[in-house]
Amino acid sequence: MKSLSSTVLALAPSMTVAIDTRAKELQASGLDVVGLGAGEPDFDTPQHIKEAAIASLREGRTKYTAPTGIPELKRAVSDKLLRENQVRIAPEQVVITSGVKHAVANVLQTLLNAGDEVVIPAPYWVTYPELVKLYGGKPVFIPTSVDTQYKITPAQLEAAITPRTKVLILCNPSNPTGMVYGKADLEAFAEILVRHDVYVMTDEIYEHILYDDRTPVSIASLGPEILSRSLIVNGLSKAYAMTGWRVGYFAGPAPIAKAIGSLQSQATHHPANPSQYAAVAALDGGLDFVHEMVREFSLRRDFVVGNLRSIPGVIAPNPEGAFYALPEVSHFYGRKTPSGKVIAGSLDLCEFLLAEHLLAVVPGIAFGDDRCIRLSYATSMQNLERAMVRLKSGLGSLV
Ligand code: PMP
Ligand code: GLU
Repeated sequence: MKSLSSTVLALAPSMTVAIDTRAKELQASGLDVVGLGAGEPDFDTPQHIKEAAIASLREGRTKYTAPTGIPELKRAVSDKLLRENQVRIAPEQVVITSGVKHAVANVLQTLLNAGDEVVIPAPYWVTYPELVKLYGGKPVFIPTSVDTQYKITPAQLEAAITPRTKVLILCNPSNPTGMVYGKADLEAFAEILVRHDVYVMTDEIYEHILYDDRTPVSIASLGPEILSRSLIVNGLSKAYAMTGWRVGYFAGPAPIAKAIGSLQSQATHHPANPSQYAAVAALDGGLDFVHEMVREFSLRRDFVVGNLRSIPGVIAPNPEGAFYALPEVSHFYGRKTPSGKVIAGSLDLCEFLLAEHLLAVVPGIAFGDDRCIRLSYATSMQNLERAMVRLKSGLGSLV
């Protein structure tokens, strides 16, 4: 067989997706696995959104659309950005993508030339560095830890920027840390980015999943200079429980939107036509659904964090947004399982928890920090109760 592309062969598969797939396979084979692997709301898509897709099919919306999406949806995104984020971006500067992952890929592919540096705070969402490398860029990580609430400082950002820096990836609220940057942090970052003329790709997919009365702030809303350097990626997957519909979007400077439009016209065209009509109904329909979900996630967060903090050796910060807990568990490394295997790091620990305690969680190493593991609490309280019993008994059995 002829050799394959070396850049694609060098790509690590998504570990969040791999663990979720494995947990589902084990469940299908009859094993009682509790899956806290993937970050996917356990709620169903609201009925009025499904009805909009069904109506669009009845009306015969089964053909190609424009590669950048239907005008109604680009208008709905533009309205949403003004209404919810105080950001003025015209519909022509919006490109509808097949999920936010696709928007991230399109932005990076469109921006990067060989050797361009991309600053990424760590722990990071698995996909960012892999896609940066796929498109020829060089990830430059800013490390954080539980001691700093997993937040970078303006001084760290300043120090990470070089003449080759093209873009900062900001995921706010953060997957996997659950941490949230407020207006003062974002103002400090914006001042630095503008001064060095660096773009910010702001992944706002968890913007409405915020706890303790926080309200979302988009860095793009902090003035015209940062707006002209802001590449917003966002979508419907989390706020409207629409992971399977595959709708996201890019919003930003016109030349970048135009280039992404050309890319899509050759590569993927557009997300499914009825999914786009469903997305219009979602965005125009308000935020009641997500606020209801957040009330439930907030109870689950308290339950999970309370349980994690009751385990000696586990350090668990309190997430301010998203639906992940990222406890530090390195206290258990070097210990042995009842069958005598040494737990060397987060991969070993997660394999042990899955094999011996039927609990699927994601090793921190996937997010660039081997000291921790990630638990998604976007699942029922009943599952979380079972998960906490299994985690306590698994960790408690290590000697
Ligand atoms: N960004 C972040 C930070 C995520 O956690 C996810 C995971 N779903 C995505 C993007 C991708 O979202 P989508 O399902 O819309 O592609
Ligand atoms: N974003 C979710 C997660 O981090 C879903 C899986 C993925 O796309 O990575 O679990």
